Amino acid sequence: MKVFQSVNSLFASNTYVCVGRTGAWVIDPGDAEECFAFLGESILSGVFVTHSHFDHIYGLNSLLEQFPELVVYVSAYGKEALYSDRLNFSMYHESPFVFKGENVVVLKEGDKVDLGDGLGVEVFETPGHDPGCLCYKVENYFFTGDSFIPGVPTVTKLRGGDKKASKASLEKIMGLVTRETIVCPGHGEMVNGYMLLDL
Ligand SMILES: [Zn+2]
Repeated sequence: MKVFQSVNSLFASNTYVCVGRTGAWVIDPGDAEECFAFLGESILSGVFVTHSHFDHIYGLNSLLEQFPELVVYVSAYGKEALYSDRLNFSMYHESPFVFKGENVVVLKEGDKVDLGDGLGVEVFETPGHDPGCLCYKVENYFFTGDSFIPGVPTVTKLRGGDKKASKASLEKIMGLVTRETIVCPGHGEMVNGYMLLDL
């Protein structure tokens, strides 16, 4: 699986495009044009949302237009926020966002999503930044959204944030990082696990 990182025009959030031999997946869709460029001829089969803050989901409807079959994977709270411009905070921006699709699969702690082709996604609940935050592990890639941005304290001041929960989630996340892990956060650079563990 190849992983491409795209830094979005809105709040410099990260979108990741994962391209396997038989399918492709996007984590946290922002600028759709960038996604299409990385996807090339690949068919987008699924989108994984780490949390439904506006800057991590605003590309969803554009992707859906191009790939009407796509499945969106998200937490229960995250699903609610996909359809609520109040919960996803977009009502405070120029272009309120509400997801137009219906093909949503709710994920929880311990779930595994089989992507085929020997690829699987492990799901971890990491509340704190937002009640519905999830982290995803695929191969040695670890998509941590805004629950863990190396070198940056987790934001817990937004509505739905919880400092105590975030601390517990951070400990959980660090317990899942190995030297071989490539941490792919919701903002900032991708970081190799050994750089975090050797500090
Ligand atoms: Zn966020």
